[in-house]
Parts: sequence; structure tokens; C-alpha cells
Amino acid sequence: MLEQAPDVVSIYEVSPRDGLQNEGATVALSGKVRLVDALLAAGLRRVEFTSFVSPRWIPQLADADQLARLVMAEVPEGVSLSALCPNRRGLERAKNAGVREIAVFLSASETHNKKNVNKSIADTLAEFEETVRPALDHGMKVRGYLSTVWGCPYEGDVDPKRAIDIAVKLHEMGCYQVSLSDTIGVGTPRQTQEIVKRAKDALPLDALAMHMHDTRGTALANIVVGLEHGVRTFDGSVGGMGGCPYAPGAAGNVATEDLVYLLHGMGIGTGIDLERLVEAARVAESIVGRVLPGKVHAAGLRSLRA
Ligand code: MG
Repeated sequence: MLEQAPDVVSIYEVSPRDGLQNEGATVALSGKVRLVDALLAAGLRRVEFTSFVSPRWIPQLADADQLARLVMAEVPEGVSLSALCPNRRGLERAKNAGVREIAVFLSASETHNKKNVNKSIADTLAEFEETVRPALDHGMKVRGYLSTVWGCPYEGDVDPKRAIDIAVKLHEMGCYQVSLSDTIGVGTPRQTQEIVKRAKDALPLDALAMHMHDTRGTALANIVVGLEHGVRTFDGSVGGMGGCPYAPGAAGNVATEDLVYLLHGMGIGTGIDLERLVEAARVAESIVGRVLPGKVHAAGLRSLRA
């Protein structure tokens, strides 16, 4: 257990982007606005709301520009609404929409990166000069995702040293935070300990985040290990929206309400109202039209008081 629990942890919500891009259903623009509104009403302060990607790649997010116009029209004080930008064209769209924070991504394994963006890791890092640098020059914040740190669907094991070397490059390039991702949800706690120890030796703790998938039920166990080692930002997707792209029907992103339930139970603040977060999970279910795998919204909070 934690010898010294942190007072506060920051949650970075990815359901409108990472969740919806991995759902089969294409959600109407109005549904996406409802979801973002429900997330903000629950107290989330960091929400990645879309990706400025080609609609040919991800048709579910084809309305990114329209959604951006709607949600960026009135951003509450202290809230950061961010968007994934795969390339320079995406960055221009984000700028036009008034987005102040973007995210870039690459993989820790060559084959996954090649399948995802059709480039080597070295070429992807070189091309970030066209997105990260101009975004920083424009006064934007840039966050980096490093996928497949815990394992690759094509290559299997991933060398943690090599992964953290890439994370350091992202940070040196100007990413204020790098989110280490268990893209296929294979991680277990001892492995997480090795990865996080290496990461915190190489990077400041506030530059680290964890993006865990619950595909095999180990996301929260890995998150507790991250907490023990000082990680203070965790990504979540309300309801557990966004299945595993490599295993149809399997769980993907850890559910934000499960993560917040765990943190609050450990006496760690998040600024989030769990009851309203459960309501957001119900909004998420209604817009995607399926039962989502998150546990706390399924079990409810009420039984705790019985
Ligand atoms: Mg994810």
C-alpha cells in the first residue's frame, strides 16, 4: 500500500476522442456535445475531445471541426479541451478552431508504429518538427502519447529502456507530459514497476502520465503501482468507452469512474463528483448504444450506503 498517499491526482479524460474512435457506432454531433458537457459537469478539467485526423482514417471523428466550434465557443475557467493532431494539416485545423492544447502520438514498437502511421519511429519523431514545434511557437501546449509501452500486438515484448528513451525525446522536443500507454492492456504490476522506475529516473514526475487499458483486468492494479511511484496523472475514458481495437468485444480504456472510485477510496482528491461522473457514463452508454464495461456505473454508488 501507499506509505504516503498524494493529496490530489489529475485525470485526463479521453472518451470523446480515444473512446469514440474505437467504438463501432458513429455518434451524432449533438451526442458528442452532450458527452463533453456531462464530463465537464462532473468536474473533469482536462478533456481530449476529438482528433483532427482525416475522415478517411477515422470516420467516427469526421465532424471534428464542427464539434470544435461548438465546444471551444465557451470553455470554462481552468478547463483544457485538447485535440489529437496526427500531422501538420491537423494542427492547422486545431489552430483554426482556437484549440490551445494538442496531443501527438507514436509507438514504442516499430511494427505498431508502421501499421499506425506508416513510418518508422525515427521518421515519426523527425516529422513532429512540423507539428510540435509550430504548435509551441503558437503558444499551444503539447502532450505526447507513447503507445505499446507494455507490449505490442505484433512484436510482443517491448524493451522498457527503449520505450523510455523515446519518452525522453518527446519531452525534450517540448511535450509537457508524456502518457505511457498500455495500448493492448497486457501490463501487470511488476512490469509496471520497472517501467515507471525507469521513467521517473529519466523524466520529472509531473511530465509523466499513464494511459492504461483494462483488457485483461489489470489496469487499476497497474495504476496503484504508478501512484506508489509518484505518478500523478492518469488517463481515463468514462464508462470504459473504446473497446480494444485488437480484440473485438474486449475492454479497452480503463473506465474513469472506476479510477475515480479507487482514488477517492484511497483518500486522494480528484475534484470530480463521482455521482455526476456516473451520470456521464450513462450519457456515454446512450450515445454509443451499447452497455459499456465500466464497473462502478454498472454496480452504482447507492449500494455502498446500504
Ligand atoms: Mg486508449
